[in-house]
Amino acid sequence: MPPSVNMVIDSLHAKGFEAYAVGGCVRDTILAREPDDWDITTSASPQQVKEIFDRTVDTGLEHGTVTVLAGSGAHEVTTYRIDGEYEDGRHPKEVVFTSSLAEDLRRRDFTINAMAYNNEEGLVDLFDGIRDLQRKVIRCVGNPTERFSEDALRILRALRFSAQLGFKLDPATLDAIIALAPTLEKISAERIRVELNKLLISKRPEYMEAVYEAGITKIVLPEFDELMKTPQNNPHHCYNVGEHTIAALQHVPADPILRWTMLLHDIAKPACRTTDEAGIDHFKGHAPAGEKMAKAILRRLKFDNETIRQVAALIRWHDCRMAPEKPVIRRILNKLGPELFGKLMIVQEADTMAKSLYQREETLERIGKVRECVREILDNGDCFMLKTLAVSGKDLMELGVPKGPKIGECLNAALEEVMKDPAKNTKEYLTEYVKTLL
Ligand code: ATP
Ligand code: MG
Repeated sequence: MPPSVNMVIDSLHAKGFEAYAVGGCVRDTILAREPDDWDITTSASPQQVKEIFDRTVDTGLEHGTVTVLAGSGAHEVTTYRIDGEYEDGRHPKEVVFTSSLAEDLRRRDFTINAMAYNNEEGLVDLFDGIRDLQRKVIRCVGNPTERFSEDALRILRALRFSAQLGFKLDPATLDAIIALAPTLEKISAERIRVELNKLLISKRPEYMEAVYEAGITKIVLPEFDELMKTPQNNPHHCYNVGEHTIAALQHVPADPILRWTMLLHDIAKPACRTTDEAGIDHFKGHAPAGEKMAKAILRRLKFDNETIRQVAALIRWHDCRMAPEKPVIRRILNKLGPELFGKLMIVQEADTMAKSLYQREETLERIGKVRECVREILDNGDCFMLKTLAVSGKDLMELGVPKGPKIGECLNAALEEVMKDPAKNTKEYLTEYVKTLL
């Protein structure tokens, strides 16, 4: 355990209280994974915790949580508690503090998350968490049906941990998941987003298929179920739309923007599918339609605006077969900016890798050339934005261009000239050029 965690636990012991590291940090340490944070559970009440430590923050007093600032880190110290009766499978109506560690561990979701540890007593494992870690199994503490009925979010958490750790679901736990998946409907979009996002950015985003098979996407992302049912009979594809999506997810790094883009890049294909006389499927207009659908989905899941903006733009452009020619690339750089353009290349490569072999080499070669173009444009400092154009709106007014929309028109025309040929980005040339427009 890190020294600051020991220090917090020791200070609580010195005042006669029980204290343990608990939950995810114990699980991850046993698995030799780096814990995200170190949670501490204690018999001391929140008030008593605040009296013992100098620097504390009231993080969630109603849940018994006080953050203790010690060393360079923050430690969440939570009083042993029993979650009272649950209101419609959502949150406990009341939180009851208890003096029993066993009761605190019993309210936790899975056996692998219900272990406690301190240096004096070693591991406290009342529900065979260690055995389940060794067997690589996600299993509820107690009766799965009861536990999922108390808090339906645990249904999605089970699959999230399964994807993060590569664990199987215990049969009784899986049965209860399938039976109770519809009750996820009661869970807030924010809580769903957190778990779905953790699953997607895990090492195994392909576990989305298990989420689908358990009947969970039907409730939290019904658009995904349509993908799983949509064939795409054409030479570019060897999978249906859903299978292609899952394959594509595995070809991008574990970054939320890239993973959500791949998850949703073909989201409008079911709505845009037409089959010609030869039985070949076409999906005309699915990229702009997908941009719209993705925005609506991400808004529904309460994503932040910047994530929505980036994912939506990447989906709109994901299918654009751009020629590796600098004027073309400068125009697209103007629309996306260099950073998003870089992500678009990753998206296009992943999309290609998840298709059939048909034209794959040619496509990858073209994308490689586009990347080269971008590198040269950026290295040369070519202008592709109004910001770096050699004339400004003020310059144009001095030339006699009337205030109003005409200024913007002239600036854009000048930028267009410069994107074709960056050598023209001089005040002399552009001044003469703008005069021809008046
Ligand atoms: P992560 O590494 O993602 O943080 P974690 O196991 O720490 O994983 P948290 O969501 O941070 O997960 O929760 C901390 C602990 O609180 C869990 O290990 C578990 O013991 C308990 N817990 C969290 N959410 C629930 C829940 N919905 N129902 C029951 N117990 C829960
Ligand atoms: Mg945690």
